[in-house]
Amino acid sequence: MREFCGVYGIYSFESDSLSKMVYYGLFALQHRGQESAGIAIADGKIIKSHRGMGLCAVVFNEEILSSLNGGHIACGHVRYSTTGSSTIENAQPLIVDSKFGPVALSHNGNLVNSTDLMSELSSEGYRFKGTTDSEIMAVLISRSNEETIEKAIISMCKKVHGAYSLVIMTKDKLIAVRDPNGIRPLCMGKLGSSYVFSSETAALDVIGADFVRDIANGEMVVIDEEGIKSLTYAPRAKKALCAFEFIYLARPDSKLDGRTVYEARAIMGKYLAKENKVDADIVIGVPDSGIAAAIGYSQESKIPYAEGLIKNRYIGRTFIQPSQAIRDLGVKLKLNPIRDIVRGKKLIVIDDSIVRGTTSKQIVKILRDAGAREIHMRVSSPPIMNPCFYGIDTPSKAHLIASSTSVEGVRQFLEADSLAYLSIRNLVNSISLPKNSLCLACLNGNYPVEVPESLKNLNLVFDKNK
Ligand code: AMP
Ligand code: SF4
Repeated sequence: MREFCGVYGIYSFESDSLSKMVYYGLFALQHRGQESAGIAIADGKIIKSHRGMGLCAVVFNEEILSSLNGGHIACGHVRYSTTGSSTIENAQPLIVDSKFGPVALSHNGNLVNSTDLMSELSSEGYRFKGTTDSEIMAVLISRSNEETIEKAIISMCKKVHGAYSLVIMTKDKLIAVRDPNGIRPLCMGKLGSSYVFSSETAALDVIGADFVRDIANGEMVVIDEEGIKSLTYAPRAKKALCAFEFIYLARPDSKLDGRTVYEARAIMGKYLAKENKVDADIVIGVPDSGIAAAIGYSQESKIPYAEGLIKNRYIGRTFIQPSQAIRDLGVKLKLNPIRDIVRGKKLIVIDDSIVRGTTSKQIVKILRDAGAREIHMRVSSPPIMNPCFYGIDTPSKAHLIASSTSVEGVRQFLEADSLAYLSIRNLVNSISLPKNSLCLACLNGNYPVEVPESLKNLNLVFDKNK
């Protein structure tokens, strides 16, 4: 039930060949999900859709995209999940029937009360086809007796708790919804007279759309033939945009709440250099998400930056492999050191985060094997102490190395010469958004949406079975 994803939608007042635009948008969001992809298109009467397992390029081809065309509203999704739930039933957009006709739903985020809602719906006779909380949302909308789709969505939003950025489509409306805390990103752009919704701004750029604004927390934006309207469907709770989007997940060329991710990462590197001075010959970054911080570190410390590790671009994020054995191999398949750069050198190695510690340990080993003299690991996030329940795939506390091990203990595990993490204070300074507008729960334990004990326990059981 844990996933992070990318959502996309277009309402076009002029073009009827939308499928390729959505495809390019999803392509630009591919880093948010590589297990399944889907596009649904509405023409005012019906919804056509295609979903499949794998990367966008595997799921779609010219023929499939042409067969989807003919409509003026589109909704798309890319999905990432963990073991057990990587099935076609869970691929999105999910499509359900309702009194408003067919409804397509794309969701990014995680609900925290899905177990209760699932048993409630099951006891009412609904038989779940997949295992995602997104299906709960779709079913709540489809079973609604409200007069309008907007009211049906609002009543669904009142029942669900957690993180959700949604793009919902009926045969004649496109609707974007962001949860009351705005945990996952969601923005709006414009291309000519067409409107675009996207998880990230980089996927607006790719089709030439101009960024208009972020969807606010607790806001619903509805587009139909009459135009665009916005309503605040819930009293705005404390804004809590996920800090991990800045650390790791979002593309560096995206802007989240007005802040360019690359800049935030480079400043994280600068603060890291200020906080933890160490003498070295070169600074290297772990591609891709450690590069911006490594450049920032180099600029601040005046220690030259070099490319010491090369990434095979055709391998997905190592986390995608569910078992530990494959994960270990994944790092070797993915990263190769440039021996002539690192041999005999004192290295500062910057990575964005340490989760289980597997990746960093492997990196220290391959650099050591390549002849590095000293390896000083610097991490551009604070230690990850707690699991995420809002849509980022992190393991339970037992598997988060920092939650049970001191910094010195982690250093020993990695076999690095030194190790230091960025402080929470300077993470927030780097992101440059008010601290009280960010979720930092995996770092400081302050969960913006209360997590039921049952979910915390479920998470433990889930991981033990891995
Ligand atoms: P680990 O090997 O478990 O310590 O994972 C740390 C590595 O995974 C770092 O290189 C991160 O860039 C990356 N990473 C961090 N968080 C996640 C996540 N939620 N999903 C996938 N990869 C991640
Ligand atoms: Fe992001 Fe961490 Fe909050 Fe999850 S707990 S939403 S990963 S900041």
